[in-house]
Amino acid sequence: MREFEADPSHPRYHSLWLRHKLELAQHAGMLANSAMIAHGRGEAFDYLLGEKTTDSARHATKIAAAKLQDATKPIICLNGNTTALAADTMLQIAEHLQCPIEINIFYRTNERMKALINYLSERKEELGLGVEILGDSPDYSIPGLKGPRASCCWNGIGESDVVFVPLEDGDRCEALRKMGKFVIVVDLNPLSRSAQKASLTIIDEITRVGNNLLEFVNSPIELEDYQNELFIEGALSHIARRFL
Ligand code: ATP
Ligand code: MG
Repeated sequence: MREFEADPSHPRYHSLWLRHKLELAQHAGMLANSAMIAHGRGEAFDYLLGEKTTDSARHATKIAAAKLQDATKPIICLNGNTTALAADTMLQIAEHLQCPIEINIFYRTNERMKALINYLSERKEELGLGVEILGDSPDYSIPGLKGPRASCCWNGIGESDVVFVPLEDGDRCEALRKMGKFVIVVDLNPLSRSAQKASLTIIDEITRVGNNLLEFVNSPIELEDYQNELFIEGALSHIARRFL
């Protein structure tokens, strides 16, 4: 496995570092073959957004923190890319919220699940946290989905009321909404089906969202009304303003 050699002064340092983390995760068997394609799609949108958290995305993240704090049974649901890129912050957020993390992947194989759960458990030990990690023995199915991607844990996604599920697939996002859940999605593509179908969409890069959310969940936040379409419009008009 090649060493990470980029210089911190490189203008794309952070982006190169994220790519390197994905390479390591791929090497460790944590990712599906399409993970790099999904990341590349994200990078393209991040380029258009200016690789910074917009005011509108920060606002959406603040509402997400309030929703998670207010939930009866919140759950943080991680896929391969989010685990590879933002495991530490997601674990710290879960510790603050006193909620479990469920590893839930679209292309489920026992090997990938094992690699992801091992990695997350190692990070949890290293950080000295007590977060419960779910996912290795699914005992429930998301209604309306077929095959392994319907599998989940009852005491995770199953009985949750608020699901924080970064980089979710559009279909599954829709199925979770149909179960009556409040679904918070992180997606750099404001036009993806996940972004459009979520209850609350944070259009921002997952490592930046992790840092912002961790800051927000540290203190109590009051719930406020919002219109999700405005967060989507906010991202699109931000892109338009940058280039037109
Ligand atoms: P749809 O939601 O339309 O069904 P999809 O979920 O099947 O599409 P994918 O390409 O599989 O599409 O999902 C990857 C999504 O995750 C893309 O929309 C991409 O913009 C987003 N994405 C990838 N990396 C990141 C990241 N680091 N931070 C935030 N979003 C990201
Ligand atoms: Mg999607």
